[in-house]
Amino acid sequence: MTTSADLFATAQALMPGGVNSPVRAFGSVGGTPRFMVSGSGPWLRDADGNRYVDLVCSWGPLLLGHAHPGVVSAVHAAVDRGLSFGASTPAEAQLAELVQQRVPAVERIRMVSTGTEATMTAIRLARGFTGRDLVVKFAGCYHGHEDALLVAAGSGVATLSLPGSAGVPAGTVADTVVLPYNDLAAVEELFAGRGEQIAAIITEAAPANMGVVEPGAGFNEGLRRITAEHGALLILDEVLTGFRVHPAGYWGLSAGGAWAPDLFTFGKVIGGGLPTAALGGRADVMEFLAPLGPVYQAGTLSGNPVAMAAGVATLQHADDTVYDTVDGLSRQLQAEVHTALDAAGVDHSIQHAGNLFSVAFGTSDTGVHDYAQAQAQDSYRFAPFFHAMLDAGVYLPPSVFEAWFLSSAHDDEAVETVVAALPAAAQAAAA
Ligand code: PLP
Repeated sequence: MTTSADLFATAQALMPGGVNSPVRAFGSVGGTPRFMVSGSGPWLRDADGNRYVDLVCSWGPLLLGHAHPGVVSAVHAAVDRGLSFGASTPAEAQLAELVQQRVPAVERIRMVSTGTEATMTAIRLARGFTGRDLVVKFAGCYHGHEDALLVAAGSGVATLSLPGSAGVPAGTVADTVVLPYNDLAAVEELFAGRGEQIAAIITEAAPANMGVVEPGAGFNEGLRRITAEHGALLILDEVLTGFRVHPAGYWGLSAGGAWAPDLFTFGKVIGGGLPTAALGGRADVMEFLAPLGPVYQAGTLSGNPVAMAAGVATLQHADDTVYDTVDGLSRQLQAEVHTALDAAGVDHSIQHAGNLFSVAFGTSDTGVHDYAQAQAQDSYRFAPFFHAMLDAGVYLPPSVFEAWFLSSAHDDEAVETVVAALPAAAQAAAA
């Protein structure tokens, strides 16, 4: 049998760190990354023959679990018709309509292949539309690895404790202003001084890349008001939250149509596990994109028919029952994690936004509302917790700065496996 250790040794000789995306390397938790060979429902199986309850769900896309029969058969049918045409296909408009039904403020949409492309294009579009250069982002928010947004970024950048990324010219980030999250006064102050230079604010609809951090009451709405007052655009990044926390994403859960950003970015669930992402929003802004407008954007595989089929089938199957199930599972697991950590005397807070949650160690007095608080937590407690869970057959995100993901396929057996693993993991975290 070729083990994960063998595969990792081979991979390290071939790929930087043996991986194609940094957090997969287990850098912050140590040990050998497990090489996965199959997934079914809530379960993952590794090359060593172990089975895990998957609480990563491909970092979000798998709202319906692994290899959902409806999604897999739609993908098979699409594959049988051909893999890529480099021309428009019927499924693109089908997916666009499904998105628009859920999020009517998406008057126009463009499909791309990754969340990074979606946010990168949204920034370029906002700059092209407004004729302004400055972009505002919040510390600890991650919007992909686009140069201009790799400052004080969450996700793997936070996991590796990096201030940003080498290889990003100072000039590229000179037009990015980073503000503390959840601090509307800081936003007001910046706009009072430089409002007419600001093209856009980009924010995660609910941050989940510094662990989960809920936007404070009125925070996103305040960003909407301030940007509108100053002629800047608001880009709500729903790559992670979109179609996961509610049929209409975190915006649907929290704003319920009372206000809308100018642009949304989507990824993950919209592609159901295949590489699709999108940006969408106001028609007058979106029509600044080529071929109608002067802002260029393109992609050989954009709107790929197989990926479209996966996205369409995923959204078609993601009905209210799916969201109720995931919400209920999330509440149940949050309570179980809390109970186990309390019993072991581990100070913590359970951070949540909709059905996304994460644990922040040593933060019970304040909870976590911004990146400084996220970074100040007792993150050393996570590695032993993670490994105890892994040993007991639960695959958590290998970083304290990532959300835990559930799916509608997580059944009683999966939940019982997680619950049974928690006491020993809590003890390990306490040590
Ligand atoms: N935006 C957010 C909020 C994300 O969480 C991510 C990825 O985790 C991205 C953008 C980038 O997406 P991708 O990894 O598909 O480039």
